Amino acid sequence: MATDHLSAPEKDERVWLITGASSGFGRAVAEAALAAGDTVVATARRPETLRGLATGYPDHLVPLALDVTDHQRITDVVAEAVRRCGRIDVLVNNAGRGHIGAVEEAADGELREMMELHFFGPAALVRAVLPHMRSRSSGAIVQMSSMGGRFSFAGVGAYSASKFALEGLSEALAHEVAPHGIQVLIVEPGAFRTAFAGNDVLLRSTPLPAYQDTVGPLRTSLPSTDGRQPGDPDKAAAAILAALAADKPPLRLPLGNDAADGVLAHLDSARAEAVAWASVSRGMDVDS
Ligand code: NDP
Repeated sequence: MATDHLSAPEKDERVWLITGASSGFGRAVAEAALAAGDTVVATARRPETLRGLATGYPDHLVPLALDVTDHQRITDVVAEAVRRCGRIDVLVNNAGRGHIGAVEEAADGELREMMELHFFGPAALVRAVLPHMRSRSSGAIVQMSSMGGRFSFAGVGAYSASKFALEGLSEALAHEVAPHGIQVLIVEPGAFRTAFAGNDVLLRSTPLPAYQDTVGPLRTSLPSTDGRQPGDPDKAAAAILAALAADKPPLRLPLGNDAADGVLAHLDSARAEAVAWASVSRGMDVDS
């Protein structure tokens, strides 16, 4: 495990703060950043899951406990990261999980849990790191959304709602912090081979027979993809590092063939619908 006394990073090394680094994308991004010679403040609900990350990079890893729904802990973790590493260059709001259920099935508590995890937690992290980034006029914020944060379909309303909320916040944020030299990258993966689809909590909503045909198939098909998803999290991590380093970084980055196809199809149909209804949309002026 990494030491408590990290030497200050070299000038061109970056310091990353990554949530949900125990597995999947979080871990892959942490590994890619460490391999690039950067310093990583890797956070997880159970910090013992980060042990393997320190192998090979003991002087570049700060493992810290963080449940992103605990806002006091967010403040403390950001303060500790700045104290130990001197700065935070890249925040990766990655922690998350799926949820399957029709909108009518998803109880209020389930909706709130999704929002706490994918919206209020990331928003609190953004607020905590921004003063440090603004004081240095540089930094990057990576928001792990989903292709389900750009468009939605039956059975993922609660999940999509939380990711849409994150994307809305992040789009505004990008405009606000660009003048301060801070970049925002919204990542929209399709199906990737992480622990996501194997998570039991996916199936918590109590099924109603009325949604057997529309949502029922997803309850079995999504978990059955566990371990067989096409997307490679290491390739996603490499793509995220490359996008951050690009001359013209994107605001949104869909990842995976399914995400690319889905986002393009969604944009086409959204445009076609807006055009088809444009005369109605435009006829609203008091004087028209
Ligand atoms: P994993 O299940 O492999 O990783 C999820 C990570 O989030 C784990 O480290 C988990 O920690 C952590 N986590 C969950 N809840 C909390 C919490 N309250 N506080 C802190 N950490 C938490 O899945 P992925 O790597 O796939 O998920 C990462 C992100 O990618 C998520 O935001 C997800 O929505 C998104 N995504 C994933 C897709 C996929 O197909 N894999 C597709 C689209 C988006 P713990 O080990 O403690 O459970």
